[in-house]
Formats: sequence, C-alpha cells, structure tokens
Amino acid sequence: MFVDRARIHVRAGAGGDGAASFRREAHVPRGGPDGGDGGRGGDVVLVAEAGMTTLSELHRHPHHRAEPGGRGAGKRAHGRDGRDTVLRVPPGTVVRRADGEWLGELLRPGDRLRVAVGGRGGRGNAHFATPTHRAPQHHEKGEPGEEGWLQLELKLIADAGLVGAPNAGKSSLLAALTAATPRIGAYPFTTVAPNLGVLDLDGDVTAVIADVPGLIEGAHAGHGLGHEFLRHVERTRVLIGVIDGADDDPLGAWDAVVDELRLHDPALVERPTRLVVTKLDLPDVRAAWPALRARLRERGQDAIGVSAHDGTGLDDLRAAVRDALAEADRREATMGAAAPGVRVHRFDPLDAGWQVVAEPDGLRIRGRRIEATAARTDFENPESLERFQRQLERMGIEEELRRMGARNGTTVRIGPAELEWTDDE
Ligand code: GDP
Ligand code: MG
Repeated sequence: MFVDRARIHVRAGAGGDGAASFRREAHVPRGGPDGGDGGRGGDVVLVAEAGMTTLSELHRHPHHRAEPGGRGAGKRAHGRDGRDTVLRVPPGTVVRRADGEWLGELLRPGDRLRVAVGGRGGRGNAHFATPTHRAPQHHEKGEPGEEGWLQLELKLIADAGLVGAPNAGKSSLLAALTAATPRIGAYPFTTVAPNLGVLDLDGDVTAVIADVPGLIEGAHAGHGLGHEFLRHVERTRVLIGVIDGADDDPLGAWDAVVDELRLHDPALVERPTRLVVTKLDLPDVRAAWPALRARLRERGQDAIGVSAHDGTGLDDLRAAVRDALAEADRREATMGAAAPGVRVHRFDPLDAGWQVVAEPDGLRIRGRRIEATAARTDFENPESLERFQRQLERMGIEEELRRMGARNGTTVRIGPAELEWTDDE
C-alpha cells in the first residue's frame, strides 16, 4: 500500500555519565582526579534515499532510538560516542513535530535532517579540580537525548503531473507513456495513490511523471479523494491536462478541474500546461475530435489528440512535455528561488525550523526565520556579520554546518546570499 504519512517516535541516545576516579600511584594513596567524560549520545537522522517512494516502512515500524554514549572511566578515558540511527525516507518528505511545528524537509536524495539530538556526555571529575579543591568527587551525568513524536508527510516531486477528471484516462496514459503499472479501472477514484513513472524523452533525458488521482468538483473543500492529492500537484513543474474525449461535455469537465486547481492554489493554473484529448481510438471520439479541437482553438487553447490504447499521439505528447519542461526551466530561472519545485509548502510566519542541506558545491541553510534574518543582514558590515554569526550559533546552525563538513573555504548559501566559511577554531 502507498502510505504518504507516518507518525514516528524518535529518541536520541543519552550522553554517557562522566566518571569520578583518582589516579593510583605506587606511593601515593590517592592521586589526582582522572575521571574521563561520557560519550555523546547518538542522533536520530533522516536521510532521503533515491528511489524510495513511500513511508510505509516507517509507518509499520514507528519507534526508533539511537545508541547512548558510553560512560567515562579512569585515566581520563572518554566514553564511546553512541552510534547515530539513520532512517531512510523518500525524497519529498516533510517533517513536523507532533504540535505541527515544521522541522525541515528532505527534497533531494542525500538530504539529511537531524530530528533528535543525542545528549552531551557528562564531564568527569578530572575537569573539576581547582587549587583549593584538588580531589573533587563531582562529575556530571550525561544529558538525556531528545525524544518526541514526529509527523512525516510525503509530497511527491514530479516533473509533470497528469491532472483530469476521474476516469479521464490518466492512469492509462501513464502506463502507455512509461513502464509504470498503475491500476486502471472504470470507476471514479480507481487510482488511490499517486503513481509515478519515468518518461523517456530523448536519449538520456527523462522526466518523472505523476498520475494524480481523480479531482472532482469540491475537492479543494475536502470532498472526495482529490483533496488529499492536490498537495502532490503543488510539486509538479508542469501539468498535463487530460480531457476525456468520450465525456458528454469534455470542456465542461476540464473547466471544473481547472477551477479546483485554482481554488486550491492560484499558482497552479499559472504552471506550464499542455492539454490532451484522449480515447481517440474510439470511433465516436475520433469523429468528434475536429469539432472539439476547433472549440478549444476558439478559446485560444491547443490540445493533442491521443489514445492510450493504440498509441495515437504519444510521440507528440512526449515532445509537448519536453517543451513544457523547457518553458518551466526558463520560468524558474527568472523566478529564482520561487521555483515551484522548491516552493513546496506554506511556512507559518514565526517558523523557526531550519535545516542545513548539502549542495554539490557547498552547504545551504534553509529556514524561514533564519533566511529572513539573513535578508536583513549587511554581510559587508563586520558588526552585522558578527550578529548574524551569533544567531547561527544560538540556533544550533553553526554546529550543524560543522557536522555537515563546513571547513575553511566552504561555500555556505542562505537565500540569495553566498558566504565563505572561515574556521577560527
Ligand atoms: P483515470 O481515472 O483518469 O486514471 O482513468 P483510467 O486510466 O483508469 O481510465 C478510465 C477508463 O477509461 C478505463 O476503463 C480505461 O480502460 C479507459 N481508457 C483510458 N484511456 C483510454 C483510451 O485511450 N482509449 C479507450 N478506448 N479507453 C481508455
Ligand atoms: Mg487513475
């Protein structure tokens, strides 16, 4: 079964306790304190794995904990750090805390998100000796690891989304265009989960195409299955509008779909869209096609006549998808960060969630609040830069940047700003 939501409980490892111990020396009854520190508890980390398309595994196994840190010991021996627990999730997974607070999202394969931080190890008594207190017993206990419930939600990321009324023929088209084997049926809502297929466009060029289950009138208001799946459409870069040539009122049915899209998110209808009229293998549909095409043209629209059954028009459709994706590339280049593939959900204005993601040539900090702060910062002004740096530190972002491998000279991006990491440690 396709599961696109999962509730999981994560618990990071507790830090190990610091030790209270004293050196043993041949002639000294009690030497100086030499209790070592406890190790760090392991983190629970999510990693987006290429090719995964469901959250079903996490749905079935919701409890995960990371290893605790080892205890410190005498001779200043450090406890071992606990191993991280790494959970694989499909690209497109959005993570929130149980109270709904946004934690981050994993869009591209390899994106990592630390969802529960391991506890710090306690310091051993070796730390606490002072000239007046040479034999401290004091040692710290390890900190507990973070724990809590998380809500994971998968939003598919596809290049092209097939949208249309129930039974218009979307699943059939997906199957005809790609190697996917979606369920095809004569009932509304036969497609209970978005299906993905890979469309070969030309040579090495492929596009991921999603079959978005039946939209019906009122879907935006929560009627029917369509509503559940409209959010998947938000992430597609181009739309393929599927018009059922066998419908009594093909244009009316399509207009209803467009209304649904607009009500859900007006930006959807701005997206590059190509129309197909399908089931052209049926004699009645073939006969009605020229008149339908003429009516579309009167409205300033063009459509491709296709059939999933006999393959009519599928090459033209592939070319049209290519063309639409090229249009999307141009649009996204001019819109910058507002590209639909990236602008994936609505943040709440006070959102303090953030995330560091690896890019091929550096690191990127994402997060509503910190991006807003960055936008207000004049990085040429040393005092402002310092304030910004303190904020990164306070929010724990600096530590995460280091963990993600920031070194002298690493490029760190935030919004449109590009900074160079300078390590003074
Ligand atoms: P979806 O609800 O939009 O995914 O529609 P389906 O792909 O499940 O198809 C709905 C019905 O239309 C099924 O009975 C299909 O066999 C039929 N159908 C889909 N495409 C074609 C086509 O190109 N030609 C004909 N004759 N029937 C089609
Ligand atoms: Mg279907």
